[in-house]
Order: sequence, then structure tokens, then C-alpha cells
Amino acid sequence: MKESKYIWKNGKLIDWKDATTHILSHTLHYGNGVFEGTRAYMTKKGLAIFRLEEHTRRLLNSAKILLINCPYSKEELKQAQIDLLKANKDDYSSNVYLRPIIYLGYGAMGVYHLNSPVEVAIAAWEWGAYLGDEALEKGIRVKISSFVRNGIKSNMGKAKAVANYLNSQMAKHEAVASGFEEALLLDDNGFVAEGSGECFFIVRDGVLITPPYDNTLESITQDTVIQIAKDLGIEVVQRRITRDEIYIADEAFFTGTAAEITPICEVDFRSIGRGSCGEITKRLQERFFKIVMGEDSKYQHFLTYIN
Ligand SMILES: *Cc1c(COP(=O)(O)O)cnc(C)c1O
Repeated sequence: MKESKYIWKNGKLIDWKDATTHILSHTLHYGNGVFEGTRAYMTKKGLAIFRLEEHTRRLLNSAKILLINCPYSKEELKQAQIDLLKANKDDYSSNVYLRPIIYLGYGAMGVYHLNSPVEVAIAAWEWGAYLGDEALEKGIRVKISSFVRNGIKSNMGKAKAVANYLNSQMAKHEAVASGFEEALLLDDNGFVAEGSGECFFIVRDGVLITPPYDNTLESITQDTVIQIAKDLGIEVVQRRITRDEIYIADEAFFTGTAAEITPICEVDFRSIGRGSCGEITKRLQERFFKIVMGEDSKYQHFLTYIN
């Protein structure tokens, strides 16, 4: 990965290489931690963080769900992310990915977590297309996972939690080892939930369909895409999807801060539509990249410019 000069940790900017943790950090053993993935785009007017407010709010909501008392307010965390990008400015010539994490540090062992210190860190580095530039253009091959999405009776998917990613990691590995690029996970009733770190959409007869939030994170990119679709006069329906409906969909794509809008050309050895990026997917993508690059006057409020 491409390193930057500083990492923000507990209120201070420290050298990248000094951002280490003790081996007995509570999160490392018992898995309670929360994080965000946020992008800053290199616009014509310099770096701009996309939907900083919403990402920071979700970070604190994730912490609340998991009973982690973050010592910083939303405003402080927003400012920290801005300060970090400013301090690292010379290291960035293209898009940047921000990774704030709130975790439990060294202090106490045992499952009970409230005696461990809460640590907050933010890293930011240059990161291009998550699944590759070709994926954004041509689409990816996807396999429905043998792993079921974390069930809502025992996991809390509204938190962007470190622990939830064990399920994602196993699904991702299975998909890649089987020759696919990404996994699509069903919920425990067999309806489509989401990808390993992306939300899912299909298009049928011009209607955009995406699963309800029951078994998924409340995705910010999914919300952006729904807003764009409405602007473009495309009908959006949030309802359950079965795997056979995907096979006969006209288009399919993933959305996420990392994956942006990634078309899906094949699912379980069946071509989706014409087996390339669909027409509506393409229109949504074009508008999305205009918005994140600051070229759409309606959505300037989504951008926090770093000057
Ligand atoms: C982060 C994440 C997403 C994408 O959410 P965005 O807000 O669009 O970045 C989707 N699913 C899971 C499980 C995630 O962790």
C-alpha cells in the first residue's frame, strides 16, 4: 500500500510507522471495534471528502450500537479527518481513502470490555478503484456465497463493525479462490443481502431494485445512487430479491465507498443482460463520478474541500 506521512491517533498527528498497537489490545482478541471507509476525491479544486458528515455520523452510531464510548464528538472527528488530509497533502496526487477506526486498547483482558481504553485513529492513503479500473468499466464476475450474511438475531449489521467482517472475509476468499471477483451473500431466509463490503442493485424493465436494509449496512453510496436515480427519473423500489431473479435481470451492480459503482457482468456462470456494463448502470456511474468530482452543482453540499 501507498504510505502517507502522518496518521491521526487520539488527537495527535504521529508518523505513519509509529501508529502501532499493543499485542494485548482488547479488540485484537475479542473483536469489538468499529470503522469507516470514506473517500476524498481529487477534484479540480483540490481534495474533497465525499459525505464526511454522513460517514462520521455512522461511525459514532456504530460505536453507540456496540457500547464503545468514543471520547470525540462528531465535529472533532470531522475536523481530525480534515487536519490529517491537510498534513499529508504533499503525499496525495490522486483519490484518497480514509479509514477511521475506534477500537479498544491495552488495559484489561477478559470479555467484559468497558475497562479497556477507547482508542481512535484515522489513516488516509492514496487508493484507486477497489476492484480495478477494468472492473468499473466492464464489470465483474460474482458468485453467490455458501456463507450466509450475519443473522440479525446475533449480529448487528447496522454497525460497521470489525467483527462483521469475518463473515465478509470468508465469503470474499471463497469467491476469489473459486475464480470470481466478488461474493454476493444471501440472508438466512435466502433473500439477497449484500456483497462482502458492497450493497447490491438489479435493474428489471427500467426499474432499479435494491434489497431493504434488514440484513445490510445503511450504505451511503446506496443512498447516493437512489438519489441520482430519482433525479434521472428512474423508478426505485426497495424490496427483497431472490437469486433466480438476478439471473434474469437486465443489469446488476454493486455500490460502496470502496467499490463505487461496479457493474456485475456475470453471476453464478450466467451472463447478466448483455454481459457488460448495463445502460442504466452506465448513466448512474457517469452522474456519480460527476458528483464526487465536484462537477454537479446540486450536490456540492456532499463535498468538504481541503484547502
Ligand atoms: C461499508 C459497507 C458497505 C458500503 O457502504 P458505503 O456507505 O456505501 O460505503 C456495504 N456493506 C457493508 C457490509 C459494509 O461494511
